[in-house]
Amino acid sequence: MRIVLMGPPGAGKGTQAAAISGSLGIPHISTGEIFRKNVGEGTELGKEAQKYMEKGEYVPDSVTNAMVKDRLAQPDAANGFLLDGYPRTAEQVQELNTMLAETGLKLDKCVEITADTDEVVQRLLKRAELEGRPDDTEEVIRRRMEVYAEQTAPLTAMYAEQGILVQVDGMGGVEEVTERLLAALR
Ligand code: AMP
Repeated sequence: MRIVLMGPPGAGKGTQAAAISGSLGIPHISTGEIFRKNVGEGTELGKEAQKYMEKGEYVPDSVTNAMVKDRLAQPDAANGFLLDGYPRTAEQVQELNTMLAETGLKLDKCVEITADTDEVVQRLLKRAELEGRPDDTEEVIRRRMEVYAEQTAPLTAMYAEQGILVQVDGMGGVEEVTERLLAALR
């Protein structure tokens, strides 16, 4: 299965992606995690990405698309993948379609985890305490939510047109939401 997972910051994408990719036996590819790893290692990509991440802005499409293209070319992604946090812009949607079309493939599903804004801000502030992610300050969280609403939320319409969008309520316990997601994907 080739799946993309969308949803506002704090909706639980990362946690849920890890759970469902395990159940489905496909690699979990998180662009945010790849960026954080590169920031941690101090690579050129990390230095570039960090400038945007710390402000809650998106890393430029050219940088993100090249990274994803590289990752999807790895052998473990040949039989399916779960993309977490990509695509996030119209240009990324376009680029992903092109990447897949080159090998005669297409997406099976776009899953949108929906969440209540107040609740996700609370979740992110809690995560800030636990994990200390540098982009989990209140100001940056607000900006990330705005950027999501402006640039990413509208993209689900394209997947709805293709008939592959499923929306899943992300509120409730982690396991409960995982069950909902797996049911929606079956
Ligand atoms: P995430 O872990 O998915 O919340 O991503 C953390 C940050 O990484 C985002 O706020 C962006 O700055 C950057 N990022 C992750 N994925 C993308 C993407 N597809 N396009 C642009 N920036 C991204």
